[in-house]
Amino acid sequence: MTSLRAERVTLGYGRTAVVHDVTLDLTEGGVGLIGESGSGKTTLARAFLGLLTPMSGNIWYGTQDLKKVDMRKFRGDVQPVFQAEALDPRMRVGSSVAEALPRADRHRVPDLLEQVGLTPDLATRRPHQLSGGQRQRVVIARALAVRPRLLILDEPTSALDVTVQAKILDLLAGLDTERLLITHNLAIVARLCRTSHVLFAGRVVESGGTADLLARPAHPYTLALREAVPKLGGEPPAARGRAEARPAGTGCPFRLRCPLAVPECERAPALREVAGRRVACHRAEDVLNA
Ligand code: SF4
Repeated sequence: MTSLRAERVTLGYGRTAVVHDVTLDLTEGGVGLIGESGSGKTTLARAFLGLLTPMSGNIWYGTQDLKKVDMRKFRGDVQPVFQAEALDPRMRVGSSVAEALPRADRHRVPDLLEQVGLTPDLATRRPHQLSGGQRQRVVIARALAVRPRLLILDEPTSALDVTVQAKILDLLAGLDTERLLITHNLAIVARLCRTSHVLFAGRVVESGGTADLLARPAHPYTLALREAVPKLGGEPPAARGRAEARPAGTGCPFRLRCPLAVPECERAPALREVAGRRVACHRAEDVLNA
């Protein structure tokens, strides 16, 4: 298992923090980071890839601070999978995959294409000659080229239609590689991640087993995500009711959107253990028992 851990990490751009005091482990069986746009999940993923240095706190890779790790070796262990638009439109598919390989290993390109369900003859095509699903498979083949132990997947299926999305998820679920999945869609984490962390306004608001979180959310935001995105192919959570309100600057950041807010919510809730998960909500027991 590739051990990556964020410990009390605050992240940002310039002097503006967008992720606040987050502690979480990338554990076995797949980990999901769930939240809407602006929740800080992609920023956290960039820090796990060593692309962003924490303003405070540490990212640990095994027992080493990620800042001190040999990045050449790290890149062989941990690979990102972004959306298919990341492919260079001028390069043929085979060259795109070969680029990720040492020269002596370039004969592996046909095997890698087959591993992701593509026929080797597609190697001569350019990205615009492929379907969206085929392009995403090429991106995955590139990431697998270095035989990573962990894939960091940022919304890997959001640009695809529902049928193609399901096929890509089957492919990812069948890979013998650990994964961190960043998504707004609870249905996708249910397929690929044993553990999930829900982020709102740069803070973890609920963490636990994905099946538990889906079956019985303990935070009103997790509940809203579950109701907004009931199945594969859903759009980001819709602005319903007070859902468009900005995070509150003081107290619970979710309180301007929360249907359960009470005066006590003007005091920021700390993460605490409730029913086998960690939740930052004064009324978690009420949400669980609703
Ligand atoms: S602490 Fe209050 S405002 Fe925040 S999520 Fe819980 S009930 Fe809603």
